[in-house]
Amino acid sequence: MNRILIAEDEARIASFVEKGLRANGFVTAVVADGVAAYDLAGAGGFDLLILDIGLPLSDGFTVLRRLRQSRVTLPVIILTARDSVSDTVAGLEGGADDYIAKPFAFEELLARVRLRLRLRADRAPEVTVLRVSDLSLDLRTRRAYVGARAVDLSTREFALAEIFCRHPDQVLTREQLLSHVWGFDFDPGSNVVDVYVRYLRRKIGADRIETVRGTGYRMRAA
Ligand code: CA
Repeated sequence: MNRILIAEDEARIASFVEKGLRANGFVTAVVADGVAAYDLAGAGGFDLLILDIGLPLSDGFTVLRRLRQSRVTLPVIILTARDSVSDTVAGLEGGADDYIAKPFAFEELLARVRLRLRLRADRAPEVTVLRVSDLSLDLRTRRAYVGARAVDLSTREFALAEIFCRHPDQVLTREQLLSHVWGFDFDPGSNVVDVYVRYLRRKIGADRIETVRGTGYRMRAA
């Protein structure tokens, strides 16, 4: 099991990242300042650190530099504001493996986390094709098929189809879908989920995704 340390002082973002990672089977711990991040990451027991730059007590760059000076080789993914990406890239000389600009969609972060963990340890091959009845999603090529027919999905549509296929027969709330596919920065009052479910139904078949009144949507397994 992979253990991930999240160093983020904004409670909303920390909880968004934590919930998402837990839902995907990771074990998580959250710290809200740079000193705690350094202490915990340096103590071992984690497989990856998600590190915000703007942390109280000691900023992310300092934490990273100190960790690398102490020969801690833990993979680190930096979280940074979109308008300071160039500073961050400069800061990566401090030894981060990757960075991601805020706001980000959870799926984007998850893809990077998986990539970093895979690069680190050669593990059992992962599922690369998701199947729910005759719908299949090839996660490597990002292609979708209904039976043998290829279906052209946009990036968002694919991400939406993916989360449904990972949870067949399970009701997914609009909020879950929104945070997984669009990220925490999206207005929860937005109807973007409903719009995209409509697009998806048009492409993969209307009966496949049920509306659960007042709650969200469910993908039928059979
Ligand atoms: Ca911050």
